[in-house]
Amino acid sequence: MSQLELEALHQEMRSCRACELRGGCSLVVPGEGAADALVVFIGEGPGEDEDREGRPFVGRSGQFLREQLRLNSIDTEKIYISNIARCRPLENRTPTMAEMEACWPWMEKTLHIIKPRIIVTLGRSPLVMISQKLGFFNKIGQNKITKLAGVPIYLPNYSIYVYPMFHPAYCCRRSEARATFSGHTKYLRLAIPSWCARP
Ligand code: URA
Repeated sequence: MSQLELEALHQEMRSCRACELRGGCSLVVPGEGAADALVVFIGEGPGEDEDREGRPFVGRSGQFLREQLRLNSIDTEKIYISNIARCRPLENRTPTMAEMEACWPWMEKTLHIIKPRIIVTLGRSPLVMISQKLGFFNKIGQNKITKLAGVPIYLPNYSIYVYPMFHPAYCCRRSEARATFSGHTKYLRLAIPSWCARP
């Protein structure tokens, strides 16, 4: 049932006109994965390849992310992957707060269907947005992602862990970040059973 609900939500997203981004992109990239996923990964916004295929993280940074997940036995069919902005910002710029705000109702509905136990934010933008919406921005402040990545944040009101990680595109540009990302993915894999255990 909820997989159907999720697909119906994706279909609704495809006709969204809530911000200007839709005018400049080819396809809306709703997200993909399991409606009963325990772990949801949230990136920044689609790039050129994602915009062409309508699927998240299928380009170069997506290949890096998917390879890291595979190496750590995190099955992409059992998780859900999406973006904080579902339409491609031209020139791959960071989505503005207004664009992320316009897209937020889709994230809220998605999380409502999936009810994950862990949200992994990839890069600073999704972390800032999620922290504002779930009320823990005070833990983020102006800190750089290099300081925040790999440090889990537990939100008792939601019984959810937020796990900030680097954006895979950043890792494609910097080899030292790739090693850190691998370490964080491994840590996540080991932590999943205890973070997902019902209290
Ligand atoms: N970068 C993102 O943030 N998301 C994608 O889907 C692809 C690249």
